[in-house]
Amino acid sequence: MSDANDVAGGPWKSEYLALHDPVTSLPNRVLMMEFLAGALSSPREGQRALAVFALDIDNFKHINETFGLTAGDLVLAEAARRIRRCIRDNDLVARVGADEFVVVATGLTGARSVEGLFRRLQTALGVPFTLPGGGVAYPTADIGITLAPQDAEEADALLHCAELALARARSEGPGACCFFAADMNDELAGRRTLEGDLRRAITANEFVLLFQPRCDAKTLQLLGVEALIRWDHPQLGRLVPDEFVPLAEKSGLVVPLGEWVLRKACDTISRLPELNVSVNVSVVQFRGGELVTTVESVLKATDLPAHRLELEITESVLIENTDKALDILERLKGLGVRLSMDDFGTGYSSLGYLRTFPFDALKIDRRFVGDLDQSKGALAIVQAILGLGRALGMQVVAEGVETESQLQCLKADACDEVQGFYLGRPMTEEALHAYIAERRVVC
Ligand code: C2E
Ligand code: CA
Ligand code: CA
Repeated sequence: MSDANDVAGGPWKSEYLALHDPVTSLPNRVLMMEFLAGALSSPREGQRALAVFALDIDNFKHINETFGLTAGDLVLAEAARRIRRCIRDNDLVARVGADEFVVVATGLTGARSVEGLFRRLQTALGVPFTLPGGGVAYPTADIGITLAPQDAEEADALLHCAELALARARSEGPGACCFFAADMNDELAGRRTLEGDLRRAITANEFVLLFQPRCDAKTLQLLGVEALIRWDHPQLGRLVPDEFVPLAEKSGLVVPLGEWVLRKACDTISRLPELNVSVNVSVVQFRGGELVTTVESVLKATDLPAHRLELEITESVLIENTDKALDILERLKGLGVRLSMDDFGTGYSSLGYLRTFPFDALKIDRRFVGDLDQSKGALAIVQAILGLGRALGMQVVAEGVETESQLQCLKADACDEVQGFYLGRPMTEEALHAYIAERRVVC
């Protein structure tokens, strides 16, 4: 076997172009598959063991958007050089997707040398990339590893195993590494089925919207509700958002799903005159560019005054693409809707954006509220967020209030609004009507 990374016939041959990636000069997927098939069918003496590494630079899109496509290409070319330096001449590295590489390493003996290569790759790619304009990119690589002959003996099957391992690494990332395990095939099959079910579920009307009270912290008057989705799956029963929203985000289905939630929430609350409603908006809904027109048309169709709708977003929206996000948030504000920062305190802790972005409210994450009774640290964080909100003229909402003593703590520090099981669990529209009627009697 010749040096697999050699240029077959020089860079000007069309054959070369058909088998190599122009940005990195690395072999492409076709050449990699040929090489892998060859290595599996006629291994060198004593080199039957072979490892396939699938690597992906997980924040490459962010690098492209922040520094531009030329900088993105330079990062890819540099990443390719660094990977090549980690492997031996007889091994191969190929670029197989926008930000995906595959390394085929032959002659590795035992888990230790596989692990050694993985560590070399991680170290090499972990060094920041300095860009021509002086910018610095900090890519991280997720890595999936599979071994022949134990995981599979055919090139296609082996690559499939490496991709499954990479998918698991991505879900654990950033910077994670996973070896292939047999249960990954079942998991993938399960995910595919669930994704198919999700597509069908929107038209089959399997989603349910629950509403959780948001109350004035001082008077406990009901001010509004947060809309929270559930999925009544025909076989699996009632699923909570953590079990399907990430999948809906990955497949893009969260866009039609988010629109359904918005329409249903606004429609329901338009019939309850004094109440406001808040709706969670996923970062993926910000990417599409239709969010503003969707919100506008839903408000029109449901006749809900814009000031009664609040959109809850998380910090990830701001991290991904600051300028675009700011533009969308300002256009939403222009419609008259309220904006709140959800799960405050759990994200990237960059406070600069709070002055730049037009938020009306901060929602303190329930993790801090839950620890209020026991931990001085949690109390200090809650007090700091309340101070920050006051200084910036934003309302502060505490989530996850479960006890009277947590409520008293929040009242003492002049929190504006409270939400949590102590005030009311997420409930159906009918239960919400009963909740409102009951409170009228008490008042
Ligand atoms: P979130 O926005 O932080 O919503 C609050 C979550 O805390 C809800 O979980 C709610 O049931 C739970 N919770 C409320 N009070 C308490 C309490 O006192 N104690 C405890 N332990 N938990 C409390 P849920 O409904 O499972 O929703 C989880 C997450 O899923 C939400 O977190 C939100 O990020 C997301 N989500 C829910 N509905 C939607 C939706 O329609 N669209 C999108 N994109 N995401 C949604
Ligand atoms: Ca929320
Ligand atoms: Ca939250």
